[in-house]
Amino acid sequence: MRLALFCLLAGVLPAWSETRGAPFAPITLYTQFPQAPPGAVLHALQDEVESIMTPIGLRFEWRDLNQTPGYEVSTELAVVTFKGRCDATGLLAHSKSEGALGWTHVSDGQILPFTDISCDRVREFVQSGLLLFRAEDREAKYGRALGRVLAHELYHIFANTMRHGSVGVAKESYSVRDLVEDDFQFQAKESRMLQSSRPRPVVDVAPGSM
Ligand SMILES: [Zn+2]
Repeated sequence: MRLALFCLLAGVLPAWSETRGAPFAPITLYTQFPQAPPGAVLHALQDEVESIMTPIGLRFEWRDLNQTPGYEVSTELAVVTFKGRCDATGLLAHSKSEGALGWTHVSDGQILPFTDISCDRVREFVQSGLLLFRAEDREAKYGRALGRVLAHELYHIFANTMRHGSVGVAKESYSVRDLVEDDFQFQAKESRMLQSSRPRPVVDVAPGSM
C-alpha cells in the first residue's frame, strides 16, 4: 500500500489577527486556483468537506479569493491555495507519491489559517484508483479526494493542533484506498477536538420568552 505524507511547513507569512466568538458563524473558506477546475471537481470537493465537517458542527461559506471585494469581514476564515492542474485528465495506471498532498502554514509555532493543496500530487497519487471508476465518474471521485485532503488540513487549522490521529481523516498519511473508497470520516477524538475549539454560542434567554 502506498502512502503519502502530510507535513506542516514553517511559513513566512505575516501574523494573522482574527476575531473569534460570533455565535454559530460559518467559517469562510477563500479558495484560489491557478485555473478554474471543472465544475464536477469543485462540487465534489465542496460536498466532501461539508459531508465530513457538517456532522461535527463546522459550517463553511465558500468564496473565490480572486472575486472577493477587499472589505469583507469574516469572524473565522481560512485561505486555501490549490496548486497545479486540478482536473482528472491524463491519468496513468501507476500512482506516484512525491511529497505532501497538502500543507498548512506555521509561524513561530502558531498554526496559520493558510493551507496549500497540491492538485498534481493528489491526482498522481490517486490516479490508479481513479481509473477503476467509469470515465464519467472520475472528476467527481478526484474532487472528493481533494476534499478529504482539504478536510485534513482544516482539522489542523480549526482544532489548532499539529498532532495526527491514528485512523480516519486526521491520520498522518493516506493510502490510495482512503482517498477513493466511500465513507472516510474523523474519529470521535478528533471530532471532539474540532468541536471544543469552536466559538461558544451565546445563549441569551430574555425574561418572559418561551
Ligand atoms: Zn497533517
